[in-house]
Amino acid sequence: MSDTAVDEVTGLCQDLLRIDTSNTGDPRTTVGERVAAEYVAEKLTEVGIEVSIHESAPKRANLIARIPGADPSRGALLVHGHLDVVPADASEWSVPPFSGEEKDGYLWGRGAIDMKDFDAMMLAVVRDWKRTGVVPPRDIVLCYTADEEAGMQYGSQFLAREHPDLLEGCTEAIGEVGGFSYTVNDDLRLYLVETAEKGIDWLRLHARGRPGHGSFVHDDNAVTALAEAVAAVGRHRFPMVITPTVAAFLEEVSDALGIELDPDEPELAIAKLGPIANLIGATVRNTANPTRLEAGYKDNVIPGKASATVDCRTLPGQAELFLEQLRDVIGPDIEIEHLQQQAALETTFDGALVEAMSAALRAEDPGARAVPYMLSGGTDAKAFTTLGIRCFGFAPLKLPADLNFSALFHGIDERVPIEGLRFGVRVLDRLLRNS
Ligand SMILES: [Zn+2]
Repeated sequence: MSDTAVDEVTGLCQDLLRIDTSNTGDPRTTVGERVAAEYVAEKLTEVGIEVSIHESAPKRANLIARIPGADPSRGALLVHGHLDVVPADASEWSVPPFSGEEKDGYLWGRGAIDMKDFDAMMLAVVRDWKRTGVVPPRDIVLCYTADEEAGMQYGSQFLAREHPDLLEGCTEAIGEVGGFSYTVNDDLRLYLVETAEKGIDWLRLHARGRPGHGSFVHDDNAVTALAEAVAAVGRHRFPMVITPTVAAFLEEVSDALGIELDPDEPELAIAKLGPIANLIGATVRNTANPTRLEAGYKDNVIPGKASATVDCRTLPGQAELFLEQLRDVIGPDIEIEHLQQQAALETTFDGALVEAMSAALRAEDPGARAVPYMLSGGTDAKAFTTLGIRCFGFAPLKLPADLNFSALFHGIDERVPIEGLRFGVRVLDRLLRNS
């Protein structure tokens, strides 16, 4: 590939970081998605790539571009990135969060790793192809989405629901969160490729009781009942279940790190993984974390109702079993309301695309070893998988050994190493040419 693409990625990423695309979760205060989509459109049309923009609501823009491949009979590869970011409180940051400042070898800004870095890599690679006449082996569909950070209803879920035709023929996809390095030693870096994602079940628990005066004896208090259920679920540890992805991950990692793996207590091995222990730790069991409480309106009135929100994340294939387990924990009298449910996903770590990922990484980093892992959070892959597309998290990034990468997601002073970004362009270029 030409040096132009590698040189261009920093500027493209910087431009994107300077567009404030904060997604507050409230459509009235969410900004910038349309501006960012128009920026991407301009960069693609400038080199002759046709794009279309699809709004799910005013200014909630999603962009699609199809790059024809040499063999149109093959399934297309979807390459996707979201343009929105979570908000940032400037008073907590060392640099203004939407400045795209270059400092100490990093580009700083909200979205630097989640995920304007990959958005920029996608642009850099295909712009270079157009300028130099490269045709990929199969169709590539580029997709830039809105609203990934607040439930995806205005973004990928909208596209999957209302515009599946735009993604027709896509058999596989790559997007966040994977392809980043974890340094074992100078000669060995594990690159974590996402092959599975936990499911989401955000639910509200409701307790009902007899309303009454706060001065009387009262044995049917909704606040008390809810508090007991919330405490029970918050303290509960659901049983450990090792899915094929986590089993493969643990095997690879214990081999690479020379850690003894006790199959009955894999968490002992996970605890030794330093900065990624947190990322992996949540993938061996279902989890349920209480996040909000709501009850009462006056200090001396016992309310008839109390509610709490619980953020539940379920392993692939466990959604129904989880609800049975939860019912056992909270007891029969608490009512469960589902606020949002999205199924987990899991694919196998094999096939030509996976081999091309490994090969592209090794060509740019001889110490690279690709390993599959499960993400405990959610991405746009949840929507695309409903169309039968096999989804991977692969946004390649070589990271300095001492960088606490997972802490930067939605974190203060989010930043991306410029060398890592340039590495990512080279790996992505190789992968897309050989997939
Ligand atoms: Zn993201």
